[in-house]
Amino acid sequence: MPEKYTGVKFKVKRGALKRERVEDPRIADIIRLAKVLFEKGFAEENSGNISVRKGEGFIIKATGTKFASLREEDFVLVESFDFNNFVLENAIGQKLPSSETPLHYSIYSARSDVLAIVHCHAFPKGVVETEEAYHYGSREQAKAVCDLLKRGDIAIAKDHGVFSVGKTVEEAAKRILLNR
Ligand SMILES: [Zn+2]
Repeated sequence: MPEKYTGVKFKVKRGALKRERVEDPRIADIIRLAKVLFEKGFAEENSGNISVRKGEGFIIKATGTKFASLREEDFVLVESFDFNNFVLENAIGQKLPSSETPLHYSIYSARSDVLAIVHCHAFPKGVVETEEAYHYGSREQAKAVCDLLKRGDIAIAKDHGVFSVGKTVEEAAKRILLNR
C-alpha cells in the first residue's frame, strides 16, 4: 500500500450506539466464510469485511475485530448512517462498527438488490478497478466503488481491495474465491 494512504473515520452522534447483542442466523455464514477467505489467502487476519442487509440497515463487524477469527458478539447492526455529514446516527452492538461502514452503506443504498457484501484486501485478476487510489474509508472511495458496482457485481478499490456483492454471503464470497 502507498505511504500516503491514510484512513478517514466517520463521526459518531452522541448516544448513537445501543449496547445490545445483535442476533441473526447469517452471522454464522459471515464467520465461516471470512475464515475460508483467510485460509485460502484472500484476506489478512485483521482486515476485510463482510456485511448483510437487515431491515433499513446492515450488520457488519465491529471495529478492532479480527476478520479471520470473528465471534458472534463481534457484530454491529448499523441502523442509520448520514452519508452527507459522515455521521453514524444509530447502531446496536457492543462496539462501534468498522471504519469501512460508509462504503458498505453506500453500496446498499446504490443497489437495492444487494443483500450481502464481501470485502477483502485481495486483488483477483480480471476484475474492474477504480482509476484512483482513494483514502481508506473516504466518501470519494465509496463513490468510485459504487459507480463500478452499478455495472457489475465485483470491483476493486485501487490499492485497497475487492468488493463483491450478492443475495447471500456465500454467493458474494464465491465470486472472489473463483476469480483467481
Ligand atoms: Zn478494506
